[in-house]
Amino acid sequence: MAFSFEVHTTAEGGGRRGRLTLPHGVVETPVFMPVGTAASVKAVPQSLLEEVGAGGKGAQIILANTYHLYLRPGHELVRRMGGVHRFMSWERPMLTDSGGFQVFSLSKLRKVTADGVEFRSHLDGSKHFFSPEHSMDVQIALGANIAMVFDECVETPASWERTRESMGLTHAWARRSKDHFELHKHRVPWSQAAGDEFEGKTQSLFGIVQGGMYADLRKESAERLVEMNLPGYAIGGLAVGEPREVTREMISRTLEFLPKDKPRYVMGVGYPDEIEEYAKMGVDMMDCVLPTRAGRHGLLFTSEGRLNIKKLEYAEDQGPIDAKCGCMVCRRYTRAYLRHLFSSGEPLAGTLNSVHNLAFYLDTMDRVRDELANATTHANL
Ligand SMILES: [Zn+2]
Repeated sequence: MAFSFEVHTTAEGGGRRGRLTLPHGVVETPVFMPVGTAASVKAVPQSLLEEVGAGGKGAQIILANTYHLYLRPGHELVRRMGGVHRFMSWERPMLTDSGGFQVFSLSKLRKVTADGVEFRSHLDGSKHFFSPEHSMDVQIALGANIAMVFDECVETPASWERTRESMGLTHAWARRSKDHFELHKHRVPWSQAAGDEFEGKTQSLFGIVQGGMYADLRKESAERLVEMNLPGYAIGGLAVGEPREVTREMISRTLEFLPKDKPRYVMGVGYPDEIEEYAKMGVDMMDCVLPTRAGRHGLLFTSEGRLNIKKLEYAEDQGPIDAKCGCMVCRRYTRAYLRHLFSSGEPLAGTLNSVHNLAFYLDTMDRVRDELANATTHANL
């Protein structure tokens, strides 16, 4: 089967313990997905990604960014290399975003029309055009297991009228994304020869609910997308600078309109306590650059809160980053050594800090999954 999702238990509060089956493997949910922007989770080799976390199980699924891979090395090159899994030597599940968020946040001189977005590359200023159809072609060439519809990300803050107008464009683009995807998804670059492990399997396309910071628009957006009967739904356009209470409110007000038998994915969140909170509200998938980006800046997440490894007080500290963490970094290295690496600009600092932070995120989700599995089952909620 190319795609299946089962919910095993639903706890009071809405959190679900489930399982997502994809062509490249099984994903236990709720899940946190590390971000591999340019087919690389920055500073972390794939061999470590496969083992990161106290249980040694590693990341179950990672994300790659369509916009970045389209610009460099180019999606057709990735297709010729056998698709993104084979190109980066990662044989577990993957998801690509649509490129929309980066087009709107990174590129210069955007021009949005009903047809798509013209923009200039943030790398060399060259001119490009992304339409829903083109985003699908790029994502099919990359060949992740889950692709995302192309959406417009409205600026923040935006008025209700402006947000509703943008949302209308997002819905039209979602429809066009789906139509094009259905026609061309068989072109995914994995081997599909008879008897091959991928025979008959394709990618799956998720929708993205928009609607800014307006609960009524979130409801309308969810309802329009659910009519398209996609295999999963994301909640986009959050964690863009709004207060955390607003993020939580928008998630909560969107979840109630999404089908209970399909995975729900909140894009681009968050801090460890946020991912725990949202998972317990019924979010099944989340991704964020925070664990690796913060790690490269010396900010570490621990069971006691955040720790800044730059501080002088750690210069001769023989303890691990977090005494309660069983990750490969905490088992082996002292705060004193990690502070020295960071202060000296040693590249190993970025790797070790990122590995610990990823372990902390994955262990957090491990714990949440255990709690949800043991919660009183409210299967009919
Ligand atoms: Zn650790």
